[in-house]
Amino acid sequence: MADQTERHISGTMVRIDRTLCIGSGNCTNLAPEIFEIKEDAIVDFQDETPDIDRDRLIESASVCPVDALLVFDEDGEQIVPE
Ligand code: SF4
Repeated sequence: MADQTERHISGTMVRIDRTLCIGSGNCTNLAPEIFEIKEDAIVDFQDETPDIDRDRLIESASVCPVDALLVFDEDGEQIVPE
């Protein structure tokens, strides 16, 4: 599995840095349609990542304790982490 993966979701670009994730599950609790803890106990995207409420998506990335989730807006400006 790649160390970093990206998806376009809900008008944003979401990036997972799997080298930082500690498998806390904060993101999967808030956005289970998007994130999944894999067999190696590290998060990755679900196979299919539907558009969800944008605020919930942003919050699900914001609650990562190790800043493993980055979110960028349409202009490439970083939204998460602030
Ligand atoms: S919140 Fe962060 S550390 Fe926790 S599972 Fe998600 S990406 Fe990994």
